[in-house]
Formats: sequence, C-alpha cells, structure tokens
Amino acid sequence: MSGADPDRAAELDARDPLARFRDRFVFADPDVVYFDGNSLGRLPVSTAARLARVVSEEWGGDLIRSWRHWRNLPRRVGDVLAGPLLGAAPGSVAVSDSTSVNLYKLAVAALDAQPDRAVIVTDEDNFVSDRFLLDGVAAARGAEVRYASTPPDEGLSSPAADAALGRLIDGDVALVCLSHVSYLSGGIADMVALTALAHDAGAMVLWDLSHSVGAVPVDLAGAGVDLAVGCTYKYLNAGPGAPAFLYVSHELQDRLRQPIWGWFGQSGQFEMGPRYEPARGVASYLTGTPNVIGTMMVAAAVEVIEEAGVDALWQKSRRLTEMLVGLIDTHLAPLGAVLASPRRPEARGAHVSVSHPQAWPWCRNLVTRRLVVGDFRPPDVIRL
Ligand SMILES: *Cc1c(COP(=O)(O)O)cnc(C)c1O
Repeated sequence: MSGADPDRAAELDARDPLARFRDRFVFADPDVVYFDGNSLGRLPVSTAARLARVVSEEWGGDLIRSWRHWRNLPRRVGDVLAGPLLGAAPGSVAVSDSTSVNLYKLAVAALDAQPDRAVIVTDEDNFVSDRFLLDGVAAARGAEVRYASTPPDEGLSSPAADAALGRLIDGDVALVCLSHVSYLSGGIADMVALTALAHDAGAMVLWDLSHSVGAVPVDLAGAGVDLAVGCTYKYLNAGPGAPAFLYVSHELQDRLRQPIWGWFGQSGQFEMGPRYEPARGVASYLTGTPNVIGTMMVAAAVEVIEEAGVDALWQKSRRLTEMLVGLIDTHLAPLGAVLASPRRPEARGAHVSVSHPQAWPWCRNLVTRRLVVGDFRPPDVIRL
C-alpha cells in the first residue's frame, strides 16, 4: 500500500471536495496535526462572533426580554439537529443537560414505563459513564444489568456481537442501551438490526450517538429507534461542555415520564402552579434553565457540519481512516502494534484505534513534540 506517499496525500487533498471547509475552523498552530476531534472538535470560526452577539446584544442589550426567544432554544436547535444529522422527525429532539444526565432521564423513563420488566442490556465495552449510569439506575430500581461480551477491536460491528446480545435479550428486558459507534474501537453497530432485536423481545432501545453524530449517517426514524442521546463537543465541534441532545420518538413522548421534574419540563411553566404537570411532547424531557450560551455554540457549529453534509464527511473519513490503516500496517505493525478497529472501512466510524504496550509513551511523545495530537485510552490504545 502506498499510503505513506506524501505526493499521493497532496493529490487527494487537491481533489478534496471538503477542502474549502478548512477556512471555517481555527488553526492556532498549523504545524500540529490535530487527530483528537473524537474527544474535542476544533473551534469553528463562526462560533466566536455568534457568542459575542449573544453576550453583548441578547444578554447585555435585551437582558430578561431575551427569554422570549431563549425559552424555545432547546427545541429549536433540537430541530436543526434532527433532520439531516439524526434522521429524526421535527419535535423529537431537544438540546439539554449533559449526555450522562440525558441517558439517566431516558433510562429511568423506559424502566418506569414497563414495571413488569427489570433487566437492562448493554455491552461491557460501552462508555464508562453509560455503564456506571445503568448500574446506578438498576441499583436504585432493583433491576439487573446484563453485559454482553463483545470483541474489543470491533465493538458492536461484528456478527459475534449481535449474537452475544441476542442471547441476553428476552421477555424480561425493559431496555437495551448501546453506543452506535464504539468510543474504543470505532466500530459501528447495526442500528436497524439491533433495534429490531430489542423490539422483537418487547424491549425499548436507547442509542448513545456521541461518537456517531456528525461523523456517520444516522437514521433514527428509519431504524424505528425509541430513545437516543448524544454529545455535541466531539464531531459536532460545539465546544467543551456544550449541552447534549436527547431524542424521544413521537409515539413515546407522552407515554414515558422522565424522573427530573423541573420547571422547564412543566406545562404552563410561568404559571408557577402547585404541582408538576409535564409539558406535552419532547419539552417534558427538559429540566431546568437551559445553557443558552452553550446551546448557541451548538447552533453555530451544526451549521458548518450541515453545510458540509454528513455523507460527504463520512466518505472523507473513510478515505482518511483507510490511508491511516495502511500506514499502521506498513510502519507500526512491524513494531508490534495491532489495529484495534474494524478492518472494513464501512464498519468504522471516524477514528482508528491502534494498540501497543508502548502506546502511552508514543502518544505522549507525539503530543509533547507538537507533532500529532491523538488520545490515549488505558491500558494500551491510541485513538486517532
Ligand atoms: C463522550 C461520551 C459521553 C460523554 O458524556 P458527558 O455526560 O458529556 O460527559 C457519553 N457517552 C459516550 C458514548 C461518549 O462517547
């Protein structure tokens, strides 16, 4: 494989239909190769101006009057995310809280709606926060979490994983909660097949899209997904701590009830009534005062991603990760490094993992010498 050839790389760059988007992002140090967008996406150029306007005009100028339009911001920006990036109907997505808190709200809501079922199914390589949250929900409700064992270098992208999950999903299962793209291997789960597997057993499904939104196409409505959550600061580039999103299918919105009864999920919010009465629709999944500044950062960043188009982004990421896999085979495999991601490009999200006992010093060296910023995941994985 001629993946190491810089001329070939330059030629691909010259023909890259997305090349013009480089100017839409801040490159403070153009010599550093930033390969950690899977943890924190780059700053879009438009974000600073958007924030300056929100702060000086909407907050500084209009003060409390701005709440007239800020109130609906979680749903408005949710609708911007819904169509092109999530394949979701208008009115089914809201921007709020963190991914962890949204996952908690939706997992509890799913369990409470099915009191005759007390099992949650997930996989043992799911993201830490997701596993902890599900364990916590189960402990509080007297439920059980069943963990599927999946090949760590392929995540849920392998038929073996589908079979392992199939063995755990039965009529006692209330909720199947999985990551669409594995944070570890980058493997893409078969959302359609696994959602159908859960539904065949009468269970609901909750997908975590943190590593897929903005990186790979997602079609929540097409797959018949019940619930989903995801973060905005990775491939969506919304910035550190920008609020996450949640999705609840229209069929379930008024059937489920989330456990954090705050005034932003209340109908007739400003009537200050004596008792919590949930709002209708996806608004009932909101809690307290939204993070206005953070939600504006989501809006600014998503515009750039949608202009580029997620299909074009995924095509490019497959070309990039294929080249990277070729380079790993040529240069790192002889040193004992092992590809820890699926080999088939269509089974991968937008990052590649490589494992080696020296992964930590390698990663640290690349960062401290200001060459390449990737990230290290214990015990021995570098993600690029
Ligand atoms: C990044 C990520 C999260 C982050 O959750 P926070 O609440 O934002 O810390 C959750 N789940 C997955 C799968 C992630 O990749």
